[in-house]
Amino acid sequence: MSEQEYTYIRDNLDRIRERIAKAAIECGRRPEEIQLMAVTKTVDPDRINYAIENGVTLIGENRVQEMLSKKDSLKLENCDLHIIGHLQTNKVKYVIPAVSTIQSVDSVKLAREISRYSEKQGVTTKVLVEVNIGGEESKSGVRPEDTMKLLEEISEIGNIQVGGLMTIPPICDDSQKIRGYFRKLYKLFVDIEAKKIDNISMGILSMGMSDDYYEAILEGATMVRIGSAIFGKRDNTGRNSFK
Ligand SMILES: *Cc1c(COP(=O)(O)O)cnc(C)c1O
Repeated sequence: MSEQEYTYIRDNLDRIRERIAKAAIECGRRPEEIQLMAVTKTVDPDRINYAIENGVTLIGENRVQEMLSKKDSLKLENCDLHIIGHLQTNKVKYVIPAVSTIQSVDSVKLAREISRYSEKQGVTTKVLVEVNIGGEESKSGVRPEDTMKLLEEISEIGNIQVGGLMTIPPICDDSQKIRGYFRKLYKLFVDIEAKKIDNISMGILSMGMSDDYYEAILEGATMVRIGSAIFGKRDNTGRNSFK
């Protein structure tokens, strides 16, 4: 990897951290309240490790296979790894020992499988519930109106702990509309916290990506998940072009 590519990643991280702080201050929050996750799908371990050397403490991978193939090459001593992509129940057994949080729980069936493997391994797995905030067909995530019921069901299951919510809003370039989706998730987050359900705490609100993290922070995000703005745009071969 060239010096130029290292500089590119470092400069991006600096700029993103500044914008995160700016957004936080703009809405009266403290910059430290917002965690930056580097999303590393399609990014090779050298570049990921460079981001870690430059202060990244949270990594998100989408696909189980890719995560497992890269994990041993990553310097994760001071860095948490989360799975953020849609998870099939048959992959749960590979994910449980490898990551600290699963951000994409959207069904009781998946929660039960996570519980089953966690119990086998004597651990409690931390998860976020993924909400399909735009109610889009063919998109993963529980629908907003079904979220409370799902949480109540999960709260009865052992070895699994819900720590917050995650969403990917519909694609749209109207920033007011995007903010509306984020605001809707924030409201759900607050309503759930007020219910004080066993094993359910609302500490993490994971929303906002490269194009909309500023808006997400203004609407209450506590974690933003950023890929291409750090590592460069992904082309359709899955490689990063660093432009
Ligand atoms: C790819 C991805 C991101 C990051 O997307 P960018 O637009 O590259 O920042 C965030 N969250 C999830 C679930 C993703 O799959």
